[in-house]
Amino acid sequence: MAPATTARCPFAPTDPYRLLIGGEWVAAAESFDAVDPSTGEVWTRIPQATAQDVDRAVAAARAAFGSWRRTTPAQRQELLWRMADRIEADADRWAWLLATENGRPIREAYIADVPTCAGILRYFSGLARDHRGDHIPVERAESLVYTVREPLGVIAALIPWNSPIITLANKLGPALATGNTVVVKPSELASASILEFAAAVQDILPPGVLNVVTGDGPEAGAALVAHPGVAKITFTGGPATARRIMAAAGTVLTPSLMELGGKGAMIVCADADLDAAVSDALTGIYLANGEACIASSRLLVHADVHDEFLARFERTSASIVVGDALDPATQFGPLVSRGQRDRVASCIAEAEVQGARVRVDGRTMQLPAPLDGGFFLGPTLLEDAAGGTSASREEIFGPVTVLETFTDEAAAVARANDSAYGLAAGVWTTDLARAHRLARELEAGIVWVNTWFDLPAGAPMGGVKDSGFGRELSAETMLEYSASRTVNVDLSTERPPLWGPA
Ligand code: NAD
Repeated sequence: MAPATTARCPFAPTDPYRLLIGGEWVAAAESFDAVDPSTGEVWTRIPQATAQDVDRAVAAARAAFGSWRRTTPAQRQELLWRMADRIEADADRWAWLLATENGRPIREAYIADVPTCAGILRYFSGLARDHRGDHIPVERAESLVYTVREPLGVIAALIPWNSPIITLANKLGPALATGNTVVVKPSELASASILEFAAAVQDILPPGVLNVVTGDGPEAGAALVAHPGVAKITFTGGPATARRIMAAAGTVLTPSLMELGGKGAMIVCADADLDAAVSDALTGIYLANGEACIASSRLLVHADVHDEFLARFERTSASIVVGDALDPATQFGPLVSRGQRDRVASCIAEAEVQGARVRVDGRTMQLPAPLDGGFFLGPTLLEDAAGGTSASREEIFGPVTVLETFTDEAAAVARANDSAYGLAAGVWTTDLARAHRLARELEAGIVWVNTWFDLPAGAPMGGVKDSGFGRELSAETMLEYSASRTVNVDLSTERPPLWGPA
């Protein structure tokens, strides 16, 4: 792997970061370091919200709900569209910030994060105008029964660090389009992106409609999910955290939408277009530094094409330019934190002990100062024909994929399904019948055929099993953030003679 050259200029906040509560920027008593993953150096400090701050934010969101829910669909459409314009207009600033904050290679922020974030906001801007109830045909001719969709109230949005502004758009778009107000608790490792987003759109939204409380999960996050003033929790993160959140939410009977982890199995059949399959496999695992819930972290390749696939995948993996996330020449940046880097390294070591062979080893990165303090672990390829190690079952959430071999289609599907997760899966074949057969058999919320990583707005996104429940990014998401109200109108004055004359 050839290290990229560096020209360092980390993101510089205009003012010290504060919490956003009820339209005011509020200082917190405590704060914690934000660390640039390319160098390991502190670049700013993030406020630590207390339970009292969370309480104030929920109260502000509840207060704002009263008038926000009465805005018209056309008004909400307009505001969401303007938010998208605002994000798109500042692509350079977002790219600079994301590269500094979570190590996203700066070139990726331009091609993925910024346009995707704006695109999601625009998609829900459109849906705001088509959010409707139904007329219910009932037996009695004199009854007029219809439903209207009502917003829920305050939405608590808890998000991870890997794609902060995209994940935020996935929560804010439908929550605001349907007339809810929001309190966001960002990840400790990507809080500045969310605070900057809130600052960028603050003058577009009425005070209290969007509130941001930064801080750690066990304090600020836990206070938010257990708050009785929250109407619904929308969470993206790991299954262990989801279990803790649901236990806390159970005490106040708050429902939730859960977007959790994955172990994405890509099945490459003998008749696959190998150029496309290898290219998609590389993108599937190495985009976003491998820190993606939908990563192609398991490659089940037919024995007939295994050697050719391995040779091509290995060659390109080893040539990927790893370096400073701020350098436009960088193809692959650092992992988000020291803890994440060490965790991924220990997952590789564990799989090695269990019998996996390391074909491309990302642990051997040697980068010059100041990158020698960064959290680098490059593209890594494991090989384990039978798929018997932990790398084939557990989510590593890093740039590690494991190459397995199969000869029997049914056995490949059974192996792909032998996972606690069910977020994304894929099949590469030129046989139409096989493509649809496998699409039917694979246990996943998304099945890609001859593609990977394509999440167009409109296509429901979400998982089954430990990958969660609820669907984002689609028309059905509007139902997650609203409830039916049944209106039953009697058009007659006739009454059955049950009680005698009134
Ligand atoms: P995480 O579960 O550790 O944290 C997610 C959020 O929950 C953070 O804001 C964190 O502060 C908060 N949190 C932690 N403990 C809490 C508690 N007790 N109460 C309330 N909130 C708490 O996840 P992470 O490490 O930030 O992100 C990685 C995980 O996210 C991976 O498993 C990945 O697959 C998943 N993810 C899923 C999707 C998807 O769409 N399905 C997308 C991106 C990431």
